[in-house]
Amino acid sequence: MPVRAVVGAQWGDEGKGKVVDLLAQQADYVVRYQGGANAGHTVVNEHGKFALHLVPCGIFNPQTINIIGTGTVVDLDELVKELDMLQSKGISTDRLYISDRAHLSVPSYPRLERMAEDSRGERKQGSTLRGISPAYAAKALRLGIQMGELKNWARCETQLRELFASCDELLVKLYGVDLSTQDTDLILERYRAYAERLSSYIGDTLSLLAEAVRQDSDVLLEGQLGTMRDLDWGIYPYVTSSNPLPGGACAGAGIPPHRISSVLGVVKAFSTCVGAGPFPTEQDNDIGRNLREVGREYGATTGRPRRIGWLDAPALRFAAKLNGFTELAVTKLDTLDGLPTIKVCVGYKLDGCSIDYMPLAADLYRVEPVYEELPGWMQNTSLVRSFPKLPQAAQDYVRLIEGILGAPATLISVGPEREATFRK
Ligand code: GDP
Repeated sequence: MPVRAVVGAQWGDEGKGKVVDLLAQQADYVVRYQGGANAGHTVVNEHGKFALHLVPCGIFNPQTINIIGTGTVVDLDELVKELDMLQSKGISTDRLYISDRAHLSVPSYPRLERMAEDSRGERKQGSTLRGISPAYAAKALRLGIQMGELKNWARCETQLRELFASCDELLVKLYGVDLSTQDTDLILERYRAYAERLSSYIGDTLSLLAEAVRQDSDVLLEGQLGTMRDLDWGIYPYVTSSNPLPGGACAGAGIPPHRISSVLGVVKAFSTCVGAGPFPTEQDNDIGRNLREVGREYGATTGRPRRIGWLDAPALRFAAKLNGFTELAVTKLDTLDGLPTIKVCVGYKLDGCSIDYMPLAADLYRVEPVYEELPGWMQNTSLVRSFPKLPQAAQDYVRLIEGILGAPATLISVGPEREATFRK
């Protein structure tokens, strides 16, 4: 399977980290193609438990080359923290490369994001406050700084000073922030040390990947967040500032579209959503609270409790149209083990009429989910390691998901650990 995009089919947090860690055992390359340190891809393997924010989840396989791609925004404080953490656990980061065209995220961005979010009052967008939207905004405004600039510190320092000055102006004039204690020279000193440390990782990742594709190497494109958070197609404005869809992977990694041979959709057996925005099947009740505890549904980056809902077929059908899934990984089947019955939203009604399209966020808030109720299986699946050994109702549930998404489930996951997975 030479180039395979692994993408979230829902609101994010579907278990992409686990799936990428597993598939990376056979991969030559893993590429993060969008987003930044707002990601928290959880991996549980023989080295321990990790929430990776920027480094691709293939880092645990010593044979795999890992690339932080052009479409990402890189927070140097977070990256260095992550490298230190991995190295302290004996994980080599020698096979990590960072695109020289990826953009730098600077300390002013989280502050700007916080001020923007605070100014929205009741209409908060649920940002992770990692500075992602100002980083992409600066890139689009052509104010950003590319990672390759770190290799020429004298030039980079000038660019950073200019960038800090424009951010400071916004912070002071627009939001009235007191920056009298901010020591720009100190930040620059820290960045100079990062530049020295990171410069050997930074380079021309396009040539590396083009050669990989030419040689039919196994490449995984690791998406961050999920379809419903895509900047163009998600529940705007409650979206991220980049494109998690496989189309985003072409630009963000530097892969010609026709070379993506497979799109693996990671789909959780129910729905979860962190932060604000419409979430039609939400169960803000005992069922939701129980699933949150059983599934330990708390944000890997922020620790925020995730909102819990039933499986949402209209949202999945929307994701199938956009992503063109060729295969699926169904995760967290085990979380539903204790439920006597399971509901699935099979359609939406808006103003009393059935609709067959995904409405804009303001109307998605108003839709009425139409549910079907299915029997649960009431058996522990966490030790099951083959599809035929799953209870019949669990097998039927997986087949239902395949039917909704129009693609076969090639992987089933019944626990956070790498080994709690089997092929169907
Ligand atoms: P990602 O951002 O898509 O990688 O997902 P997260 O890491 O944010 O959230 C997924 C969570 O579910 C993590 O805590 C994983 O360890 C956990 N997880 C993944 N697959 C399974 C599974 O099949 N069963 C259970 N119980 N937990 C899982």
